[in-house]
Amino acid sequence: MPLIRKDQTVIVRGLVGFECDRCKKRFGGGDAVEMDEMFYWHHECGYGSAWGDGATVDVTLCQGCAHELFAGLAGGPSTPGEPTLDDAGKDGGHGGN
Ligand SMILES: [Zn+2]
Repeated sequence: MPLIRKDQTVIVRGLVGFECDRCKKRFGGGDAVEMDEMFYWHHECGYGSAWGDGATVDVTLCQGCAHELFAGLAGGPSTPGEPTLDDAGKDGGHGGN
């Protein structure tokens, strides 16, 4: 049976920018650093939530605002090469020579 083909146009929707909910600045897709470092939190609340029963919460922050708000709460940035939980136990879990 011969193959039957048809040309189709496919629409791809991608993230090209955002507006920070705090400082209201807009960042575009040309700024790769801001796009990569944006903070986005989406939460669908359950019963008894402080946000409201069944509420949906979305927060979008630029990296500057996210850092100002959360730096004091974060456990500290990890750096490449820093030991991780995956590394624990490689030496038998005794952590020494
Ligand atoms: Zn901001």
